[in-house]
Amino acid sequence: MPNLEDDHEIGCPYCGTAFSVRVDNTAGSHQSFVIDCENCCRPIEVEAVTESDGYVSLIAKREGEG
Ligand SMILES: [Zn+2]
Repeated sequence: MPNLEDDHEIGCPYCGTAFSVRVDNTAGSHQSFVIDCENCCRPIEVEAVTESDGYVSLIAKREGEG
């Protein structure tokens, strides 16, 4: 049973620091948002894709990149 809200680890695309972000699975199966890295404070564009089985994949990109 997947949780409605879950913490997922991503790696900062700028400095490589790994940290957790909270994804609200009720907000849609494909979300994107921008968070600031806890270490270098640069903006990270995060794409969260929820699969049909509830598994969430996160893609972290530099803001403004592809
Ligand atoms: Zn960083």
